[in-house]
Amino acid sequence: MSEIFKIANRLSYIKATENPLSADVGIFEGDEFCWIFDVGADESVPTSLSEIKKPKNAVISHFHPDHMGNLEYVDFREVYLGANTFKYAKRGTVVSEDIFIDDGEKIHVFPLPSSHAKGSLGMEIGEFAFLGDATYATMKQGRVCYNASVLKEEIAVLKNLSAKFFLISHDEKFIRPKEEILAELEEIYSKRDPKESFIWI
Ligand SMILES: [Zn+2]
Repeated sequence: MSEIFKIANRLSYIKATENPLSADVGIFEGDEFCWIFDVGADESVPTSLSEIKKPKNAVISHFHPDHMGNLEYVDFREVYLGANTFKYAKRGTVVSEDIFIDDGEKIHVFPLPSSHAKGSLGMEIGEFAFLGDATYATMKQGRVCYNASVLKEEIAVLKNLSAKFFLISHDEKFIRPKEEILAELEEIYSKRDPKESFIWI
């Protein structure tokens, strides 16, 4: 069993692990459904989620196995994902624009431009926004980099969120102030070379 940590009223999470590599799993208890943001890959996660008796829906941040590996081991009524993630999961509802669902609180699921993974999604509930790995860089020719125009779009989407805290998968702190994350991303963006598509880190 994985331990479930409380974030706020109705909101909790299971911490990421490194061995096996498994992402943080967000849990929101709505009136009707329990909403799971990323399902991880650690085999103890489905056992912990099975303790929750409400029917479950999943939102998958992106296609990497540490975020969606457990998809087939948990019974979900509905799975929301980006078009690129759908190619790997082969099931679910593709989210290509912002959606708002009222389930006790307003759930906002939104496409999030990301250098790390094409077709990433975020999920915002009240003061908190789950971002998965979307704020991370990617690798190109063995080097760490951001796509400059994608990063610009990502910063714009993140600025527009009303959440005060961003939940960053695999980050030791996990729950971080929105302003801190935005400052880091803007610092990276400021280092771009206008003649280059990529910002090398
Ligand atoms: Zn990833």
